[in-house]
Amino acid sequence: MTAARLLIVGPQGSGKGTQGVRIAEALGIPTVSTGDVFRANVKEGTELGQQVKAIIDAGDLVPDELTSAIVRGRLEQADAAGGFLLDGYPRNLAQVRDLDGFLQGRGEELTAVIELVVPREESIARLSKRAAEQGRDDDNEESIAKRLSIYENETAPILDVFRERGIVDQIDGVGSLDEITERITAALTARGITA
Ligand code: AMP
Repeated sequence: MTAARLLIVGPQGSGKGTQGVRIAEALGIPTVSTGDVFRANVKEGTELGQQVKAIIDAGDLVPDELTSAIVRGRLEQADAAGGFLLDGYPRNLAQVRDLDGFLQGRGEELTAVIELVVPREESIARLSKRAAEQGRDDDNEESIAKRLSIYENETAPILDVFRERGIVDQIDGVGSLDEITERITAALTARGITA
């Protein structure tokens, strides 16, 4: 059996948050979502929240050092010792280096990267729907465009690094929630990653 040290990657609106939680629950590992951590801090009005609100609303990236420090702190907690699922981090090459350094220090590495593939029109349609339903401050047209372009320019390149390591599973992200969860589970099982 291979330890579940996972990353889920996909453009905004790909459903990575929803699928990440489903997979992590099935495997009994914690989900570490940087977007959720930032949003919770904004909501609670913490110092961190005040620091990042304008950045998030504009669709920009929070500085790498800050983001990496938050993730390190979270991964050091006991419940992440046996495995974890990262959602939304790392998001650029600098963050990949930060994470690699941290994990190497523990004698660990990511064991699988789930790439959710969703056509651009489909993710934009899903984001508009979410904007109407949830009213997220960063689901406005300008911020969505910025986030999709950051994904294409900064986040997609990290997949090349992980592809070279042979740990990327490309998953078709179009279908019902259950269908997509099953596709991911099958890919992980093929790598020896099971509950
Ligand atoms: P998400 O929920 O993953 O789409 O993240 C929402 C927002 O939080 C992003 O648009 C960024 O402003 C910020 N954020 C989340 N993860 C990161 C990260 N790894 N690096 C920098 N900023 C991030």
